[in-house]
Amino acid sequence: MKNRLVWLQGVTCNGNSHSFLNLPTLSSFLQTFEILYHPLLPSLLTLEQLPDANPDILVVEGGLRRGWPKADTDLFDLFMVLAQRAKRVVVVGSCAVYGGIFKEYDQEITGVLFDKEKKSKLYDQFSHKTINIPGCPANPEWIAFGLESDTMHLDDLHRPKELFAVTVHSGCTRNEYFEWKVDAKGFGLKEGCLFYEQGCQGPYTHGSCNTILWNEINSKTRSGTPCFGCTEPTFPQKDLFKTKTYMGIPAKMPLGVPKRAYLTITGVAKSFFIPRLNKRLIDED
Ligand code: SF4
Ligand code: SF4
Repeated sequence: MKNRLVWLQGVTCNGNSHSFLNLPTLSSFLQTFEILYHPLLPSLLTLEQLPDANPDILVVEGGLRRGWPKADTDLFDLFMVLAQRAKRVVVVGSCAVYGGIFKEYDQEITGVLFDKEKKSKLYDQFSHKTINIPGCPANPEWIAFGLESDTMHLDDLHRPKELFAVTVHSGCTRNEYFEWKVDAKGFGLKEGCLFYEQGCQGPYTHGSCNTILWNEINSKTRSGTPCFGCTEPTFPQKDLFKTKTYMGIPAKMPLGVPKRAYLTITGVAKSFFIPRLNKRLIDED
């Protein structure tokens, strides 16, 4: 029997719904579900019928807020009714997971299990059946993974380890530049690491953006844009686009890297000039 799915939108820009529509295998993937309600896809129920829905899987996109009207009821109450009935809750996008961008303007907004880094008031009630797929937006393949897998290993923030036990730095094509400390001088260039001069958050950010590519071909760092750290509860951060340093040493070490090891390795690397990495790939204008 197909799992019945309801996709509930809270306070959101719609970005995760749009991301999901870019899933390369969307049409065959959707054949495996019964879509009771999705705001953009053909659905068996209307928005007004949502309070009567009885889903197996409840997807939540967008932050939760009391007093936010949805389907002629309060968003928070609607969430409570549907989440209690659902066998599994899949929370997609950083607003639904932690509060996200909208929380910057309205402190009443919260994620389902987390309010920034802290556990929310809903944690004890729903943590046993909830998985978090953060991202701004979440990669469509991550969302698909969350919808179809029911045996997962989750980290402390309820993110599947299969997707989030690596950093964005893992699999980045610029690792060689990072190791030799050759930085890109601007956005969009093929050469150089984006860490020091463009503020890349890849070494601090859990996510498989460079191993499960977007639309099967690209990622931010591959296209020459620094990672903004959108899968972490600290997102959105201020003062991006430059890594803070003290006397040339990053104020914050890459995840899991001891300071002493980092200083030793980078000290050695900096003392060499690597012609291939310091030249442009196509050396003409
Ligand atoms: S661009 Fe970012 S993710 Fe890629 S190697 Fe540099 S710091 Fe790591
Ligand atoms: S590269 Fe960074 S900012 Fe971009 S989607 Fe991945 S985690 Fe988010």
